[in-house]
Amino acid sequence: MASITLRNIVKQYGDGFPAVNDVSIDIADGEFIILVGPSGCGKSTLLRMIVGLEDITAGDLLINDVRVNDKAPRERNLAMVFQNYALYPHLTVFENIAFPLRLAKKKHSEEEIRQKVTEAARTLELTDHLERKPANLSGGQRQRVAMGRAIVREADAFLFDEPLSNLDAKLRGQMRSEISQMQRRLGVTSVYVTHDQTEAMTLGDRVAVLKKGELQQIASPRELYEQP
Ligand code: ADP
Ligand code: ADP
Repeated sequence: MASITLRNIVKQYGDGFPAVNDVSIDIADGEFIILVGPSGCGKSTLLRMIVGLEDITAGDLLINDVRVNDKAPRERNLAMVFQNYALYPHLTVFENIAFPLRLAKKKHSEEEIRQKVTEAARTLELTDHLERKPANLSGGQRQRVAMGRAIVREADAFLFDEPLSNLDAKLRGQMRSEISQMQRRLGVTSVYVTHDQTEAMTLGDRVAVLKKGELQQIASPRELYEQP
């Protein structure tokens, strides 16, 4: 579990105006925060800087009060859930979820792996699908497998990059409530990027609104809703 602090974060690509401009946000341990705004406002860039896939031009990024600007992604212990799931088509659901454990530097016994995967599958209601391949799953089930991977890594925080944008409207609604319930059950700090107003207003504890790289406002969905 982790708090994440963004302090005057700037990202400058080339000579243009900054993709992210002086953004400061304090994300509390266990908080579910939404980054929302139109395409090109800097949401993905901000998320990628937090996870360590993108260098930070200026400012400080702190995880549990420790500055991590120069730490490699693997040292940050954050789990990213992508919109295209990034599942391995030739592996079963079980092996897809187990993958980060097999990759980890710290060796896990087969028994340990079986236990962690089984437990994650139970949380995600995937128990009956563990021997299937991704091609034989629905979009929502694939999304859950991708989350299972994040769960078994016991990451300090989940970072979601528009995880529902490829799903149809019905499934999106269903997954929205599943993600919200699961985040509350696990109590894990989550940062969730979307351009979807409904997701922004229903999922998070707080919503950070970005425009042209700048933080316009940050408030609870209720406070945003009640604004004139
Ligand atoms: P969003 O996720 O909100 O759609 P992005 O973070 O992807 O926005 O992009 C923010 C701005 O940074 C945009 O103007 C985009 O064109 C620019 N940008 C993103 N990635 C790169 C890159 N690798 N090189 C140059 N400019 C980039
Ligand atoms: P190790 O224990 O060897 O560092 P990890 O479980 O951290 O192994 O995974 C290896 C690498 O893959 C790390 O750099 C980690 O950050 C990255 N990684 C694995 N899964 C994810 C994910 N879902 N999101 C972000 N990074 C990931």
